[in-house]
Amino acid sequence: MKRSRKIALSLVAAALLSLISLSLLALPTEAGSFPSGQDSFGFDSPDPFTSSDTGNDFGSPKRDFAPLPDKAKGGQNYFIHDQLLKLIVLLTFTAAASIIIIKSRYKYRKLLLLASVMVLGFYLGGFLCPLTAVQNLFLKWQNGYLILFLGGLVVPALLWGRIFCGYVCPFGAIQELLHLKRIRREIPRRWSRYLQLIKYGVLGYLVVRVLTTGQIILLDHTPFKVLFTWGGLPSSIAITVILAALSLIMYRPFCRYFCPLGAFLGILSRFSPLRIRVNSGCVSCGLCEKACPTGAIAGKPATVQSSECLLCGECIKKCPKKVIAPGSLALVITSPWFLVQHLRKASSGH
Ligand code: SF4
Ligand code: SF4
Repeated sequence: MKRSRKIALSLVAAALLSLISLSLLALPTEAGSFPSGQDSFGFDSPDPFTSSDTGNDFGSPKRDFAPLPDKAKGGQNYFIHDQLLKLIVLLTFTAAASIIIIKSRYKYRKLLLLASVMVLGFYLGGFLCPLTAVQNLFLKWQNGYLILFLGGLVVPALLWGRIFCGYVCPFGAIQELLHLKRIRREIPRRWSRYLQLIKYGVLGYLVVRVLTTGQIILLDHTPFKVLFTWGGLPSSIAITVILAALSLIMYRPFCRYFCPLGAFLGILSRFSPLRIRVNSGCVSCGLCEKACPTGAIAGKPATVQSSECLLCGECIKKCPKKVIAPGSLALVITSPWFLVQHLRKASSGH
């Protein structure tokens, strides 16, 4: 790599880290520094990890909850102190991920995953909760949550696909860091395809339920949240232990088969102009298919199922013809045209 490029990359990395540090200085100083009875977004909810009447006797430390600005009196303050800063953290991670993908520096991906576990996981107490993020959208879109959701999740997904899953989400990151490639076991592809549909069922059920009852459920059953919040219900601990054990031998079992947020982002990824794709020149050698940990790339010639692709770059590294790549910037400019075409085809049933 040229020296000037190295310096430029170092400067960008330093700027990103400074931004994260500055954001964190202004954020609550403990993972649990949200008021009792509020979820990790700071909204009122019966969160068994943060409320005092949970019956949690698993040694979860008592938190010293600092009061947030009164939402009624200072909605803007609340937005700036909570949602906006979290949005900055999400965008910083997304920007770092974008640089890794654009520059094909996939060897730094594990570092970003580690940073996600440390910052979004342990420091922020498991932000953003994949089981409740979509449910929250329907009930808590005020106070900046809509902006956080659109800016931190929807826009990056519409550009890149599941970049949040592949690089930012601490729940996905911890599963990947636990995974031991040497002892990997795969579910046969045909079965895996059926199992992948479970997450869409979970998403549909949660959306219908929150719209009809106005209640958020499964708040206390997000796998690995007990780890990030140092305690939880026995059932949550059991779910975490099972998924941690599965993660050792399977690549991201929760992300691939159960996560409703992953399903939602997977739907958006079908429209992403920068998603990973196979260009002409594929010689059907099958190396990408073997390398892909999610089973997202297959066929002769190979094609990418973008809803399952986490932009990890493994197929790009293995392709002998170098025909696998993310979309180009030109595609972003012409993407509205592609979107119209896609919608037309979908509406005509082709
Ligand atoms: S699938 Fe869900 S848990 Fe996995 S990385 Fe994406 S949002 Fe996180
Ligand atoms: S190997 Fe390729 S197709 Fe598979 S998840 Fe990674 S980037 Fe996507």
